[in-house]
Amino acid sequence: MTNLRSRVEPGAGAPGRSVVELEATQLPRHVEMGTAGSTTLVARLWGLRLNMDPFDRPVGDGVVRELSLRHAGPDCVECRLSLELAVAATSPTIEALAGLPALVRIRLSRAPLHRVLGGRVVVVDPAHGGPDRGARGPINLEERHVVLKVAARLAHHLAEAGCRVHLTREDDRPLDGARRAAVALAARAELFVSLHTGHEEDPACRGVRVLYAGTSRSGPAAARRLAERVHGALREWPGLPDRGVAEADAALAPSGLLAASWPLVFVAVELVCLANPLDEALMRSSVFRDRLAQAVRNGLVRHHAHPPLREGVALAL
Ligand SMILES: [Zn+2]
Repeated sequence: MTNLRSRVEPGAGAPGRSVVELEATQLPRHVEMGTAGSTTLVARLWGLRLNMDPFDRPVGDGVVRELSLRHAGPDCVECRLSLELAVAATSPTIEALAGLPALVRIRLSRAPLHRVLGGRVVVVDPAHGGPDRGARGPINLEERHVVLKVAARLAHHLAEAGCRVHLTREDDRPLDGARRAAVALAARAELFVSLHTGHEEDPACRGVRVLYAGTSRSGPAAARRLAERVHGALREWPGLPDRGVAEADAALAPSGLLAASWPLVFVAVELVCLANPLDEALMRSSVFRDRLAQAVRNGLVRHHAHPPLREGVALAL
């Protein structure tokens, strides 16, 4: 076995599929697929050996959380796929294809992702814009530009999951809070995600912080749970340092947003600290920015796929 890769295969007007491909110099003698718990898929390939060290690799595509590859015997390779959602719902298939290299291809339906996020109305808000530059890195990368790029990727990934996405701005222009709020109020959004970087000027400061607020109908507890899921996903992969989760100051949410008469959650995600040279360098990478966007999407998946038990319901043990 020589290689392992993953990708998302788009569906034409329908949910696509997550694809994991294992390359080998020959076909496996026998292939079997099973589960280890409800969210872990296990594929065993007999007649193959790893010619690399066993490893775990984050995928974070909204369906596949992580891949791991190791020996399960002298001539058996085991590939484990940790999923965000139940294995059974993804209708997994496996096929072996002769050739050089030989391929073992596992496909998982992304329909469960649509069942969790599909139809949700989300506003993605790249903060600042125009003369309001936001934070600036030591080599002059500006917050108003980088959050716009991450917002475009987040909008793409949420739309791919079936969300109805509205962006407050798609270019570099000034935008006041009332106009940002108006986008959410007109769309009856249930979630408003504002993208920032940290504004600290200390170059030693790194990592992610998520601030939250809810309307009177959603309440702070639900907003905090969502913020914690998004924060946790960004901490896990791409593995950002921790600057915490906190309730937002009243002035941070766009003016009028929290007066909505329906449950609406506001989160402000400070993705990195732009004053830090390493965080600034990372933000110049389109791959890194896409990972940030995917992590925010994964936080939403986890929030909606694993709702808390209703308060007051006792568990019978
Ligand atoms: Zn900002």
